[in-house]
Amino acid sequence: MVPNSKRKARVLDGARLAADIKIEVAREVVEFRSTNGRAPCLAAVRVGDDPASAVYVGNKIRACEEVGIRSEHLALPASTGEAELLEVINLLNQRDDVDGILVQLPLPSQITEARIIEAVDPDKDVDGFHPLNVGKLALQEPRFVPCTPAGIIELLERNEIKIGGAHACVIGRSQIVGRPVAQLLLQRDATVTICHSKTSDLPSVTRNADILIVAIGRAGLVGREHVKPGAAVIDVGMNKLTDPAAVQALFGSESEHRLQVIAKRGYTLVGDVNPAAVDEVAGSRSPVPGGVGLLTVAMLMRNTLKAASFHLLQAASLQRGS
Ligand code: NAP
Repeated sequence: MVPNSKRKARVLDGARLAADIKIEVAREVVEFRSTNGRAPCLAAVRVGDDPASAVYVGNKIRACEEVGIRSEHLALPASTGEAELLEVINLLNQRDDVDGILVQLPLPSQITEARIIEAVDPDKDVDGFHPLNVGKLALQEPRFVPCTPAGIIELLERNEIKIGGAHACVIGRSQIVGRPVAQLLLQRDATVTICHSKTSDLPSVTRNADILIVAIGRAGLVGREHVKPGAAVIDVGMNKLTDPAAVQALFGSESEHRLQVIAKRGYTLVGDVNPAAVDEVAGSRSPVPGGVGLLTVAMLMRNTLKAASFHLLQAASLQRGS
């Protein structure tokens, strides 16, 4: 347990940055509307009644309202088959008034996620998960960049954390966070190391990092032994903690609010980083909640606006050609 007085890491405030980005997008949406006579449109597709997915989609729809993007929410029953979902995606692909398509993952087990991701028109793939957009990112021609990695880069850059020449270490090699964020860091001239569950002696690797991105999915796994003094630590993890003793171990004297949240909601959301321990050595750290999660939604708004602008350019060039 670490007393407050020992803390020194600067908080990387994702909430404030997400609000700033949404204000920027909202301004551009106003311009888009006045030039084109319509708002950009995001279609969000959800299958089944997973409560977490319902919350995530709800947050995205609310963000659309905030920035002036039109949204459609298609909530399909848990029994929806793959062919049926493919048909829904195809219809959305064909609609000129839909700019972005988001399919909330995970999908029920009767549906192969990869088939659905590949069915989304790459020009409407605002999540950046389609193989064509994954390939574009790998070729250093990014078009739609996955929202969480894009948000991490914004958080670093807008807090003036130097990426070029830095040693960045990413823990986690998933397709939605670890791999794409490593590509983005490499493109900005960081020297990048990617770690995973088979990395031996993890702390000896991560302790060399000026920038440590943690995307594992294990509450509080990263402690002070993993962190180089002065490093920027970005905590991507989102884990539900229900045990008050585990909360005490992670938050020490700052547990009170978390314990109240558990009493009220049954759980509290924590990251992959042990905040009390890491704050003793890190130069800066993004909190959970209030860090990367909110930026993910803000970057989705930006990707949707980008898709809408892209469609107008395409339509204009088709008209010129005809
Ligand atoms: P994932 O697909 O489960 O990948 C987890 C990665 O962590 C894997 O590469 C795994 O290695 C590695 N790993 C697991 N245990 C490890 C250990 N003990 N030491 C080192 N590496 C270990 O997870 P994900 O989708 O990337 O998500 C990671 C976390 O970020 C989750 O908590 C998720 O909820 C959160 N998340 C947050 C946002 C947001 O908006 N804030 C968005 C997406 C995800 P292997 O490859 O060897 O298995």
